[in-house]
Amino acid sequence: MSDIAPTSPRGAWNTAIYARLSRDRRGLSENVSIQVSECRDYADENTWPVVGIFPDNDISASKYSKKPREHYDLLLRAIRQGQVNIILITEMPRLYRRLEELLELIKLAETTKLQRIQTTDGISYNLDSAEGIHAAINAVNNAMLEAARLSKRIKRKQRARAIEGKVHGGGRPFGYEPGGLVIRESEARVIRECARRFIAGESIGDITRDLNKRGVLTATGKPWRIENLQRTFMKKRNIGVREYEGQEYPAEWPAILTREQWDRMEAQRLSKEWRWPKTQTGVRKYLLTGFIYCGRCGSRMYSGGRGPECGRPSQRRYRCRPHDNYGNASGCSKTFRIAEPVELLVTQAVWHVFDDPKVAVFLSPKVDEDKVRHLVQEFERRKGKLDQLVTDYATDVLSRDQFIQAKGIAEASVQEAREALSHYQSETSLAHLPATQTIRDAWETSGLEWRRNILRLVVDRVIVHPGQPGTQRWNGYRFDPEKIEIKWKF
Ligand SMILES: [Zn+2]
Repeated sequence: MSDIAPTSPRGAWNTAIYARLSRDRRGLSENVSIQVSECRDYADENTWPVVGIFPDNDISASKYSKKPREHYDLLLRAIRQGQVNIILITEMPRLYRRLEELLELIKLAETTKLQRIQTTDGISYNLDSAEGIHAAINAVNNAMLEAARLSKRIKRKQRARAIEGKVHGGGRPFGYEPGGLVIRESEARVIRECARRFIAGESIGDITRDLNKRGVLTATGKPWRIENLQRTFMKKRNIGVREYEGQEYPAEWPAILTREQWDRMEAQRLSKEWRWPKTQTGVRKYLLTGFIYCGRCGSRMYSGGRGPECGRPSQRRYRCRPHDNYGNASGCSKTFRIAEPVELLVTQAVWHVFDDPKVAVFLSPKVDEDKVRHLVQEFERRKGKLDQLVTDYATDVLSRDQFIQAKGIAEASVQEAREALSHYQSETSLAHLPATQTIRDAWETSGLEWRRNILRLVVDRVIVHPGQPGTQRWNGYRFDPEKIEIKWKF
């Protein structure tokens, strides 16, 4: 390590050895300790006192590397403290790939006792002279060029491998044996199960909890985390696709899932991203908004809770309003109804409809794989266009005004595609009802959006006819079920 001798006078031979292991496997002095002993020998031959050894292990000095070079910083400190006259290295790329760093060192040489950089193959860069500085800059330039050529070569190789569908490397992918070419059936079953459950509308959180409860582990033997589970089963790898820089190539390994399954998962994922407009409290609480109409004037009824007043508890209600959310003239504002009994009545009627197995089968829509794929592709195409606009703006292809105008159009188009997808997803949500579950069971455990999707399948509208409940009692409410009319879609 770095043992620093007392400050040396200028013109002395105090030598600091710097060694670095680069990631690119070139050169003979690969190993840091080999580099160091090579430098030591060289210093001994010249009878230069070694005042410090600064080895940076396994760290690339490539232009793209952001990793700190810890001992390099210590070396700089030793130079600033005036303890170093000579930096000894095996070859220039060990020390520098970035010109700025060399320039910093050249500046240091002006104000400290540092005189030169010496390589063990006998090249000396005298930092006192213009020739020496020039030669050093040339050497670093060459090293930089070499590094650029190297990374281009690596990229070309990676791309060729991708086109041939070859494995990417890295750790063992979940679902496959080491090497990534052979399916590991026990894990493939888990991937298929996750896909099926996710398509059926189960939340990732629930699936994750269940897998962990059953002791199913990741490829590295750890419990699942929510974010890596979805990434794992939605990998394009699982459908036999090798991805490289946004392009897809047929892979050399077998698929676990079909493209259709992947499209449906993507549709599910995208439709989950899309949030329905919410009420002010942030949570939609009204089952029938959008379905329920005033029987007197024919306009929509809205949720309109009565706050707690005059000692009465607050109450959820549907009411006909004189104007809509945009302030436009709307309804007669004369009809209102307590929400609970109306919702209960409609829910029971829907259950009744589904109790007839013939109706249920008739209503259960066939998922059109082509349609799902088309909708997903359309969404992605429009999204891609939007991304391209941002790039065009960033690279000055578009002016700010052009960008703002085009962005508005593109965003609306993306939103439209997403809504189409979302609607199709909800149309098909009944198909996701597990065969063993009745609609009643599912109703209890599923959220409001799922219930509204089911309603959308069968209910055209619910009409609330005017009238006073009088003394009518229905399921504990002052409510007249005769005044509620359900118009079915069939
Ligand atoms: Zn009305």
